[in-house]
Amino acid sequence: MSNSIRVKKLPKDTGPAGWDAILRPGRSFPELDSTIRADWVVIGAGFAGLAAARRLSQLRGGDKIVLLEAAQLAQGPSGRNSGFMIDLPHELNSETYAGGQEEDLKQIRLNRAAIDFAGEMAEEFGLGSMVFGRHGRVTGAATAKGEKHIQSYCSHLDGLQESYQLLDAEAMQALTGIEYYRHGLFTAGAAMIQPAAYVREIAAGLSKQVAIFENSPVIEINTGPVHRISTPKGQVEAPKIILAVNGHIQSFGFLPKRLMHLFTYASMTRALSADEVKRLGGKPNWGVLPADPMGTTVRRVSDYRGSGDRLTVRNRFTLNQSMEVSPAELRRVLKDHDQAFNARFPMLSGVAMEHRWGGRLCLSLNSVPVFGELEQGIYSAACQNGLGAVKGTLSGMLAAEMAVEGKTPMVSEYLAYDAPKRLPPEPFLSVGANMTLRWKEWRAGIEL
Ligand SMILES: Cc1cc2nc3c(=O)[nH]c(=O)nc-3n(C[C@H](O)[C@H](O)[C@H](O)COP(=O)(O)OP(=O)(O)OC[C@H]3O[C@@H](n4cnc5c(N)ncnc54)[C@H](O)[C@@H]3O)c2cc1C
Repeated sequence: MSNSIRVKKLPKDTGPAGWDAILRPGRSFPELDSTIRADWVVIGAGFAGLAAARRLSQLRGGDKIVLLEAAQLAQGPSGRNSGFMIDLPHELNSETYAGGQEEDLKQIRLNRAAIDFAGEMAEEFGLGSMVFGRHGRVTGAATAKGEKHIQSYCSHLDGLQESYQLLDAEAMQALTGIEYYRHGLFTAGAAMIQPAAYVREIAAGLSKQVAIFENSPVIEINTGPVHRISTPKGQVEAPKIILAVNGHIQSFGFLPKRLMHLFTYASMTRALSADEVKRLGGKPNWGVLPADPMGTTVRRVSDYRGSGDRLTVRNRFTLNQSMEVSPAELRRVLKDHDQAFNARFPMLSGVAMEHRWGGRLCLSLNSVPVFGELEQGIYSAACQNGLGAVKGTLSGMLAAEMAVEGKTPMVSEYLAYDAPKRLPPEPFLSVGANMTLRWKEWRAGIEL
């Protein structure tokens, strides 16, 4: 039976993706402006869409695969995040990032498969270690409460038989140049990426086997044995679709009232001068996640292809069920970025932020993905629950695997999650969630 899905809302990203803005103009891809036939259409060129296209190209080498992205490549959330691909539990809803033991063991195994998958792509397509590097992750505690969070997270890691290394204040200062952190925790399994360069370079690598179109939002799908997928100027006819649009899956009419659209925000400095770099000290490339999930993430990236030596801070969460934040809302959170930056980097006072932006995440109340076949020939790789760099990669890879091979063991594991729970009605959800977030951020103290 054929059916028409009209896309209710297209993605709108607030502020420039700083990670992309500091790169030299890269390769661009055309806008779809004709009618073409394909075997597969992947919608959305973020972590999930790129992974889906890659896995399809591995499993169905001779097929025609089309990848459609609404915006310019690397402008969406996958190109504007903090760049941590984390293997270990990182549950944003929890006080310490930890979840239940059995669930965590499964998630670690799956996350590592996704990081390996991304690592193989990175190697094959020649991404340098500044774009994808297995550098591990450091979590920093600035308060006694943060130290407790680290201790309790370590006990959880002991239970999972995961190794880690504790860092004292001196080691944290040797890494970052600053005196802010009292303790740190290093775990080796994470990767760090330059997110915009990652998206662009993976897309360039894939383009030998995948037809990529940017600035080509899908506005309608007429479903049937062969689906007709329309963009403003073109169409693709294909029997199979992978929807890799994270929270925007709701704009396609799926999962109404079950997805939470969380925003978080980042600011990036201008390039530091040689004198400022000297005053800062520490190592040239590092990232520190906050011990309190409501705290501030900081990254320093040094001179990747002429981008200069820059610091980035990320903090604050807001729930915006409209899936958009206005520039005025963005401006409201920026004082927290400036405060976090000035408190950590007193030796750099007066260094201006050059890029400021916000970006979407998608969560479900019970922290489960939206994964599987939604309608005949339409597969979903969405709702990444906050760890989207790794879970997006995983869900894209597995959605492709499911569409081609059916229920492989890993696909079955990913299918075993419950459905996302129904959300409380508005305005209770938004008012309640935003008040809770503000309260938790206030409790985070100088971890924020
Ligand atoms: C500031 C910030 C920091 C973050 N830090 C981290 C981090 O360090 N580690 C981590 O794991 N996660 C982080 N995240 C979250 C992470 O970026 C997301 O979870 C991740 O991008 C989700 O990947 P995805 O591919 O599923 O979806 P997206 O990255 O949202 O990609 C979906 C794509 O679909 C496109 N699209 C939507 N609708 C349509 C349409 N109608 N037609 C065509 N295309 C469409 C969008 O333009 C988008 O490019 C952060 C997010 C932000 C905003």
